[in-house]
Amino acid sequence: MSQVFDIFVIGGGINGCGIARDAAGRGYSVCLAEMNDLGSGTSSWSTKLIHGGLRYLEHYEFRLVREALIEREVLLNMAPHIIWPLRFVLPHHKGMRPAWLLRLGLFLYDHLGGRKILPPTRVLDLRSDTAGGPLKDEFTKAFEYSDCWVNDARLVVLNAMDARAKGAEISTRTKVVSAKKGGELWEIDLQAADTGAMRRVSARVIVNAGGPWVDDILRTSIGENEARNVRLVQGSHIVVRKKFEHPKAYFFQNSDERIFFAIPYEQDFTLIGTTDQDFHGDPSNVKISDEEISYLCDGASHYFKEPVTRDDIVWTYSGVRPLYDDGASKAQEATRDYVLRTDGGAGPKVINVFGGKITTYRRLAESMLEKVEAAIGGKGAPWTRASVLPGGEFGVSGFTDLLSKVRADYPFLETSQSERLVRSYGLKVFEILGEARSSEGLGEDFGHGLTEAEVRYLMKNEWAQTAADVVWRRSKLGIRFTPEQTARLDTFMREHKQLQKFAAE
Ligand SMILES: Cc1cc2nc3c(=O)[nH]c(=O)nc-3n(C[C@H](O)[C@H](O)[C@H](O)COP(=O)(O)OP(=O)(O)OC[C@H]3O[C@@H](n4cnc5c(N)ncnc54)[C@H](O)[C@@H]3O)c2cc1C
Repeated sequence: MSQVFDIFVIGGGINGCGIARDAAGRGYSVCLAEMNDLGSGTSSWSTKLIHGGLRYLEHYEFRLVREALIEREVLLNMAPHIIWPLRFVLPHHKGMRPAWLLRLGLFLYDHLGGRKILPPTRVLDLRSDTAGGPLKDEFTKAFEYSDCWVNDARLVVLNAMDARAKGAEISTRTKVVSAKKGGELWEIDLQAADTGAMRRVSARVIVNAGGPWVDDILRTSIGENEARNVRLVQGSHIVVRKKFEHPKAYFFQNSDERIFFAIPYEQDFTLIGTTDQDFHGDPSNVKISDEEISYLCDGASHYFKEPVTRDDIVWTYSGVRPLYDDGASKAQEATRDYVLRTDGGAGPKVINVFGGKITTYRRLAESMLEKVEAAIGGKGAPWTRASVLPGGEFGVSGFTDLLSKVRADYPFLETSQSERLVRSYGLKVFEILGEARSSEGLGEDFGHGLTEAEVRYLMKNEWAQTAADVVWRRSKLGIRFTPEQTARLDTFMREHKQLQKFAAE
């Protein structure tokens, strides 16, 4: 007889991992399967904002904006290492949205939900404020408001780690190939990506959190529903060498009424994005188009004194938003709110996630647990609101003290290395650095401050299996790594994995 779980979650993006964590913490037995690496779908290709979504107010999405605004500080308290406050400068210019409309939107933004830590909106004179320096002289006035920045891929992994700590089984590189009803249970066939080995498990309810694959899973793996529920919308970003020195981000309006951001990124870079265009095809193969590159370069060059050209680009990335299909005519107008729907007729149920934002993943998980309760009966009460994710136990105001302690205990670390480590791991940094008294004590240096001690930690605790997992999701060191450095890391990880396998046998 196959192993029986209460809940089987398909998809290890932010929504799947958030649901698995919440459910395991309430006492359900949970299994989650992710066909690739955790966060390798849409959840690592976002703009990385925990935000209310100022522009959604124009589409009257008050429920979503209020929920998202409240979540900013809830999440900041939950993960103060990988989430931090960010100020946004919104230049006002004739021909764009009128000042009274921006003022009204920002007033609502400041007052709709739960703002205690983040500072309120203020008006800037760009002729004297440092934020005006990089901008063309015609931009003289701006509004400055608050949102937060998040390391999106690490948020996914921290949720998975906490789910595992609470008893969930997390299987990465494991694809759900089919799910069939067998009486009161689902019988789910899983395939391991590396060996092709098959395994069958059973579950009382399936949560389909497949992101852009959600319809495909319903149609082909479960055979439950043929309808198109999500609208796939591509969004792309360019990363260029740093365009400005100050720590604030810009919120720019384009002539087509879209908005886009220019955000300080990984110390030496500026992240510019995003775009919105309907996507047809396999979401695994999404790639920035030539038009998107021109659109972002032209849009940013309209604002910056120094134009943004293709030669400035060091990296690009694209993701596919799985937006609930509300029939909106333009891609940018499709709702960013989420819909949870139970399918399955009289037998066991499958509950699907359509849409959603990283910002609202915790609340989405709570709503999902209400549906799970209706399907298979209740267990614990909601608990995540005042919880903390692994490594974040030092509190919102404790970051500087923690960084000082790490620098005092491990004085041999480079300044940028210690900051990256504390930002990525919070208190878990001590598990990585351990008793080391010199750089040599951390083992091989793969480049840019990535050491053997960190890689071993990631392989043991965070499901990292390949160099790409480490340099593009657990960190963003890939922007700096040469192909040779990445290849060396891959070889090390392959050998280390073999050794672990032998040791286990
Ligand atoms: C360009 C862009 C910018 C964005 N910016 C922001 C932002 O700044 N702030 C914000 O809050 N939100 C933002 N979002 C939205 C946010 O990124 C997504 O809503 C969110 O990441 C979706 O998460 P998910 O878990 O539903 O999907 P995903 O992250 O795609 O996870 C689904 C997972 O399911 C797995 N899977 C699929 N099929 C199977 C199968 N058969 N078996 C096993 N596993 C399977 C996939 O591999 C994937 O990892 C942005 C999105 C995009 C595209």
